[in-house]
Amino acid sequence: MNKNGKIYVVGIGPGKKADMTFKAYEAMEKSDIIVGYKTYTDLIEEYFPNTEIKSSSMMKEVDRCIEVLELAKSGKNVALISSGDAGVYGMAGIMYEVIGENDDVEIEVIAGVTATNAAAAIVGAPIMHDYVTISLSNLLTDWELIKKRLELAAQGDFIVSLYNPKSKGRTTQIVEAQEIMLKHKPKDTPVAIVRNAGRETEEHEITTLEKMLDSEINMLTIVLIGNSNTFVKKGKMVTPRGYDKKYEY
Ligand code: SAH
Repeated sequence: MNKNGKIYVVGIGPGKKADMTFKAYEAMEKSDIIVGYKTYTDLIEEYFPNTEIKSSSMMKEVDRCIEVLELAKSGKNVALISSGDAGVYGMAGIMYEVIGENDDVEIEVIAGVTATNAAAAIVGAPIMHDYVTISLSNLLTDWELIKKRLELAAQGDFIVSLYNPKSKGRTTQIVEAQEIMLKHKPKDTPVAIVRNAGRETEEHEITTLEKMLDSEINMLTIVLIGNSNTFVKKGKMVTPRGYDKKYEY
């Protein structure tokens, strides 16, 4: 009989319990231990006062997955958590890379509300048409490749959602990203900047491609850049699905 525990890779949503799926909550509730980066375990620990919680530092993702696998092999059910969706720049892929072909441990990934969806709902309906997400972090991806993706996304008139736009150590990527967008998109293209979506400190601004760098952009920010049809109405950013009609209510 397999005495190993199960691994739940859980997307906890952007922050608050209300934005967490019921399934994510249940998975954490039936786990013996919850493991995650400290910022995320801090967000959920109050809901699971009787569960063991293990926080680890950023940049230790692989070690965290190895540890989770060992815990499961010792018979524990483990919830490995990511913010938003664990399959979007989160822990799900790493967990599948770390597990061995012969390890008799089940992994279940539980979907969460990713930051793009949380941010989009806050500012209106900006991602109603084809959109792409691009991470500006060049820690794991070559910057030349990221620039190529930005270029093609702009050329393709996609709505673009930027993750990891800027950090203390990475300040130039967002400037280059804006330059690339301006090559193909009009300077008055609506842009939404959403910080700390779904958290106590949530803030947002709706601006334009030309002026977007005047807003504060940090590591807890999503930058949503519209397509050629995106407009602002009643203070909200909206991308219509129909190209020919403009509806008035
Ligand atoms: N797995 C996460 C993304 C992790 S990458 C998800 O699905 O949302 C980290 C980046 O996500 C941050 O740099 C930021 O761009 C974005 N992000 C995560 N949570 C956010 C929040 N609450 N508000 C705004 N942006 C957020």
